[in-house]
Amino acid sequence: MPELPEVETVRRTLNSLITGKTVRSVTVRLPRILQKPDDPAAFAAMLEGRTFLGAERRGKFLRLVLDGLVLVSHLRMEGRYGLYRDEEPVETHTHVIFHFTDGTALRYKDVRQFGTMHLFAPGEEFLSPPLKKLGLEPLDDAFTPDAFRKALGKRTTKIKPLLLNQEVIVGLGNIYVDEALHLAGIHPERTADTLSGPEKSRLYEAIRATLQSAVEAGGSSVKSYVNGQGEMGMFQHQLRAYGRTGEPCDRCASPIVKFTVGGRGTHVCLRCQKPPKGASQAATANAASAAAASAGPRRKRANAVKLRLDGEGAGGGERPAN
Ligand SMILES: [Zn+2]
Repeated sequence: MPELPEVETVRRTLNSLITGKTVRSVTVRLPRILQKPDDPAAFAAMLEGRTFLGAERRGKFLRLVLDGLVLVSHLRMEGRYGLYRDEEPVETHTHVIFHFTDGTALRYKDVRQFGTMHLFAPGEEFLSPPLKKLGLEPLDDAFTPDAFRKALGKRTTKIKPLLLNQEVIVGLGNIYVDEALHLAGIHPERTADTLSGPEKSRLYEAIRATLQSAVEAGGSSVKSYVNGQGEMGMFQHQLRAYGRTGEPCDRCASPIVKFTVGGRGTHVCLRCQKPPKGASQAATANAASAAAASAGPRRKRANAVKLRLDGEGAGGGERPAN
């Protein structure tokens, strides 16, 4: 599923594609995408005649700002937007179409149908679900080392599920949590209350650095997001731990091992990320087998791991975290 960097790239692309466009009409082909209002006619009537002023983001949610209205959109597993000429044939899995007065149309496609859309009066979106309870925004100026330390508090939760909790910090999913913990040298099964001051600082820096470089990678290849059909999708980004099971850690060359933490596939270098006492048996067993495997010829590291916004790179059938 898309995480903060992917959603941020979609946001930037949408911002350049639809800002200034006025909605002539709206076609709803799959009403279940609409959450508020859930009636297609009411949804369309609220949008018609309004102009998009820009695309913003809160966590993994897009905030598409119109004059007098805000559309909150979550892509979930496979949602994607594309800008088309209105007369182009409508492809399957196209669920909502915003027809513009200039003859173009923004189309929302979603094979898995998990995506959501809410309409709010400006400002009200922050007072109700789904944005109300969201935690720290990691790329905002308000995300300081101090704010992060406070958010972690003395919690006895394992650090990985804690970072995945959108009420603590937003935008991090399975991929970038593994990446940030590897960069910070912290084992995902450490509990927050056992992290030292310097470890918390390292983790703070690692979260910022990981997300920023991913956003820059996405931002710099933003054109490749829009294919001939104006559809955004592919994302290429270099990963250190996620999806690299059995490949050498780029810091110490130990093999990356994979095990499960809180039900999520987790990628770790056990030399750089020292396990706490009582770490899961699976971690130890997996480490041993990975070490044995690494005694053989090492696989050459792939230059880039392809991630797709539809979540194929994000662990297959896992359910969205929010
Ligand atoms: Zn390592």
